[in-house]
Amino acid sequence: MLTREAIAEQLEAILGPERVITDKEVLKESSIDRYRKVQSVFGIYELPIPAAVVKPADAAQVAAILRFADKNNLNCVPRTGGSATEGGLETIVENSIVIDGTAMNRIVKIDPVSMMATAQCGVNLEVLENRLREQGLTMGHSPQSKPLAMMGGLVATRSIGQFSTLYGGIEDMVIGLEAVFPNGEITRIKNVPRRACGPDIRHIIIGNEGALCYITEVTVKLYRFYPENNRFLAYALPDMKTGLDILRNVITTGYRPSIARLYDAEDGAQHGFNQFAGDNCVLIFMAEGPERIVTATIEGITEIAGTCKGWTAIDPRAIENWFTNLNWGPEKVAQEREFLKKNLNTGFTTEVSGNWDCILAIYENALARIKKDFPHIDDLTMLGGHSSHSYQTGTNMYFVYDYNIKGDPAEELEKYHVPLNAMIVEETLKAGGSMVHHHGIGKYRTPWTKEEHGSAYYLLDSLKKVLDPNGIMNKGTIYPVEE
Ligand SMILES: Cc1cc2nc3c(=O)[nH]c(=O)nc-3n(C[C@H](O)[C@H](O)[C@H](O)COP(=O)(O)OP(=O)(O)OC[C@H]3O[C@@H](n4cnc5c(N)ncnc54)[C@H](O)[C@@H]3O)c2cc1C
Repeated sequence: MLTREAIAEQLEAILGPERVITDKEVLKESSIDRYRKVQSVFGIYELPIPAAVVKPADAAQVAAILRFADKNNLNCVPRTGGSATEGGLETIVENSIVIDGTAMNRIVKIDPVSMMATAQCGVNLEVLENRLREQGLTMGHSPQSKPLAMMGGLVATRSIGQFSTLYGGIEDMVIGLEAVFPNGEITRIKNVPRRACGPDIRHIIIGNEGALCYITEVTVKLYRFYPENNRFLAYALPDMKTGLDILRNVITTGYRPSIARLYDAEDGAQHGFNQFAGDNCVLIFMAEGPERIVTATIEGITEIAGTCKGWTAIDPRAIENWFTNLNWGPEKVAQEREFLKKNLNTGFTTEVSGNWDCILAIYENALARIKKDFPHIDDLTMLGGHSSHSYQTGTNMYFVYDYNIKGDPAEELEKYHVPLNAMIVEETLKAGGSMVHHHGIGKYRTPWTKEEHGSAYYLLDSLKKVLDPNGIMNKGTIYPVEE
């Protein structure tokens, strides 16, 4: 067993001292992610502190770090934007190495002919998107964390953005990529529009959450950008069932608005929707693209909504204002920390998915279960949800819960967040849905990984055994810790 000092020294010999960080504060912050945002605000760091944070310059350096870690049985936690919400960045093993990809931040190529962009893992999504827009192009990827997240993490978590109904999730955008495996093998999956050369091996890497390999470079599809044609529609509705019916009809009829979101009254009020929708649910659409497609999409949705009763139209300008301020950058994170510290109140989310035939049951059962079984129900200051990503066969449900933290902030996790998350996951699996829609399994939904995958867990388990036989990649993420 190497000591912390020996690990740092040997990493310095591999990478040069300027690429190895052992500053105590950086190490502490790098032992967690936003799952422990309450503890971090109060300076409570209970997990093993990593031995070092390293900032490799390229895939060859990543390979050298992984070979060293594999030989010495050291846990490695890949990291890029640091916006993870499910514990994927937690260092649960003593003397872990955090591999920070932010120095690999080059936009390698923008190709407007074959409509592709290649970027290293540490390229921030907003930076890439702004560069593309200067050329009249877009990636079409807009998670709320766009100002924070980076290409490596976005691919590693199977992220999804607000325009997903039109552009899909990141898995629909990635053409090819480069990744490094624990034995130091550097693999590159080439960029072609489609092929039938065996299974699609991109999907071993997309969504691996740093538990199988380190993503160093990504190539994604591009689209033309037509912001001047964006058009919004919004409706106030009496209940989620009416909203889900309209949503399902719009999507299954074949319309592809870029945004399709349905908020319940509680969640909508968090966004100020109660000012114009009272205590109703709110259904929002945005159409984008070439003008003729936008016009047809808006007309089609209006016609479908017209066949349902009980809604009132909302002035789309109210929605445009809300949409402009939806994303989260460093300022909002700082404001959130201030608020939490002052008010001892915070909020978390659990996002799941289900087919059209069970999503309403998932929504209703999860909320009913929390209201019935959660022992600290009086501390909840908000409980609700929304659907934000719809498909031909179903949609997601994004549960949101805020609470006052009574007692010791160190106990917040076990007292509030863990049981609330568990009740939503359990009710989702019971009703036939999937326990994670887009944040990744991280470390807090691993108790249900086997139940989620059923007999297909054999495949997931085999990948880990073959690709990471010594188990050095992000221990406790995706895969439950057995011992
Ligand atoms: C305010 C807020 C809003 C959010 N909104 C959305 C949203 O709309 N849609 C959405 O999908 N997510 C959202 N998220 C979650 C988060 O932003 C995404 O999961 C994002 O993809 C993480 O990217 P990152 O670069 O920050 O990755 P990190 O936080 O650094 O890492 C995330 C995970 O990926 C692994 N990882 C990181 N880099 C690599 C790499 N190079 N190779 C292999 N594994 C790696 C890490 O080990 C970790 O498990 C939100 C988060 C916040 C805080």
